[in-house]
Amino acid sequence: MIIAIDGPAGSGKSTIAKLVAERLNFTYIDTGAMYRAFALKVKRLGIDPEDQIQVVSLIENTDIKIEGDKVFLDGEDVSQFIRTEEIGNIASKIARYPQVRKFMVKMQRQIGIKAKNAVIEGRDAGTVIFPDADLKIFMTASPQVRAERRVQQLKEKGFLVDYNHILQKIIERDKMDYERKESPLRPTEDYIVIDTTGKSIEEVLDYIINNLIYKK
Ligand code: C5P
Repeated sequence: MIIAIDGPAGSGKSTIAKLVAERLNFTYIDTGAMYRAFALKVKRLGIDPEDQIQVVSLIENTDIKIEGDKVFLDGEDVSQFIRTEEIGNIASKIARYPQVRKFMVKMQRQIGIKAKNAVIEGRDAGTVIFPDADLKIFMTASPQVRAERRVQQLKEKGFLVDYNHILQKIIERDKMDYERKESPLRPTEDYIVIDTTGKSIEEVLDYIINNLIYKK
């Protein structure tokens, strides 16, 4: 069984996807972490993320693996370096390129098929990676609420952050993710859309689990 959870930055999908996976004993697949790992490589090599030719030739020589919560870039565990807003922003830029998406989607499908039972989280989990997913959830919330959550998360990780800066970055990233030509962030009719503004984690989690029972 495949559960796809998609939505914009800060919608709470990572928190929820992890909890759903835990509760059902499914494999959790964070597709954003893979784009972030590649973005880190682009940054480290000083490549301009706008330079499509260079970025695309780099992906052909890159090895990305995920294992639970951990992401490996060319064999190195880079999990602790990818959670900044800067890397999220570079990820969003390089995620516009069809060749990069093709590379990622191929790997993500293989991971999901191998896992058999998985909660896969991202922007295109239920539209491109697994269009036949058993349950598709689209999580959303106002940009302000998402920025507040992001600030909280980053603070907990020890980063010094400014709310207005994060809000602006979220709006920028939304624009890129929603308006790009290749796999834009857009739920199809078969998604259950959940606006998480004002909802607790428990409420959202119960709602998803109930939908799953109903679907069965
Ligand atoms: O989900 P997360 O914020 O970690 O993703 C970082 C960026 O990677 C997103 O803003 C998006 O542009 C890109 N991404 C994507 N497709 C996915 C997952 C992430 O385009 N399936």
